[in-house]
Amino acid sequence: MVEKIKAYRFERLDETLSQLNSEDCAIIAGGTDVMVLHKSRRGVPPKIPKPIVFINHLSELKQVYQHHKDLHIGACCTYSELLENPLIPFALKNAINTIAAPAIRNRGTLGGNICNASPAGDMLPLLYVYNAKLLLRSVNGDRMVAISDFIQGPRRVQRFHNEIVTEIILPFVLEDSHVFFEKVGNRNADAIAKVSFAGFVRISKDRIDDIRFAFGAVGPTMVRSIDIEKKLVGKTIPLADGDIAAIVAAFDKIIRPIDDQRSTAAYRKTVALYLLRYFLSMKQYQPN
Ligand SMILES: Cc1cc2nc3c(=O)[nH]c(=O)nc-3n(C[C@H](O)[C@H](O)[C@H](O)COP(=O)(O)OP(=O)(O)OC[C@H]3O[C@@H](n4cnc5c(N)ncnc54)[C@H](O)[C@@H]3O)c2cc1C
Repeated sequence: MVEKIKAYRFERLDETLSQLNSEDCAIIAGGTDVMVLHKSRRGVPPKIPKPIVFINHLSELKQVYQHHKDLHIGACCTYSELLENPLIPFALKNAINTIAAPAIRNRGTLGGNICNASPAGDMLPLLYVYNAKLLLRSVNGDRMVAISDFIQGPRRVQRFHNEIVTEIILPFVLEDSHVFFEKVGNRNADAIAKVSFAGFVRISKDRIDDIRFAFGAVGPTMVRSIDIEKKLVGKTIPLADGDIAAIVAAFDKIIRPIDDQRSTAAYRKTVALYLLRYFLSMKQYQPN
């Protein structure tokens, strides 16, 4: 006999939050990670150990707007919706275009990619270099947390069972910043990353004011080092070979990938350092 699943789908966010407060439920947004995680053999419904609550229809979680120049993105915006939105930065759209294929992009959400906390989540390296913050809401109110504090390890996030991530906030991104994203997978479409890299640089009169890098799929979470980044602040573009070599050597020490079914640790490390070197060697950076 097929087991019954208890499922909730409320019209409003406040009703959904009340339910989450009174019962420990599994949240489903697009379901593209949840359904894979709990899949059963062919023809058998997935086994989800808790009651489920659907959130991806809630209009409160699908707004995109600017406030004090920060960009607020509703956690349940699908990738396809973000691709259509003129407020979404070009670099983010570039990364979205590398995710899966259109069917998954029509269902999968930005909030789901973050809360799934896969080391290979394609949106994560960029969100780290944007210094993204997450707004979490519960019946007790709102709290804000940096993405790098929220994600604690593979599928481990700092979320209480009664909270929903409502917004992803990209702090004011200055017009003279430049953002780069590259994903390396088995093929261009429908491939999970072997390695990914995001770089962010803000330059005034050839001088670096701010520079950030994050690597995906080479550790349990995104690899970023603010201490290493600081070594380049104040340097002029193009960077000297010695400066580039020093930064690459510093990351060589802290990047510790693993072998798995998608790639080898040695390949991942070589490509990650190559992407960093490529980004640092650019003589001109593309606008954000
Ligand atoms: C065929 C296929 C290809 C894929 N390709 C890629 C790819 O190329 N790159 C990539 O990065 N990913 C890929 N994925 C993974 C997946 O599509 C993405 O991670 C997607 O963004 C997940 O979003 P979702 O809304 O479907 O999440 P769901 O599956 O609904 O949820 C994922 C997790 O997040 C939690 N959650 C979701 N939203 C919230 C919220 N607002 N607040 C609190 N918790 C929440 C859920 O409880 C669950 O634990 C692929 C998946 C499939 C099936």
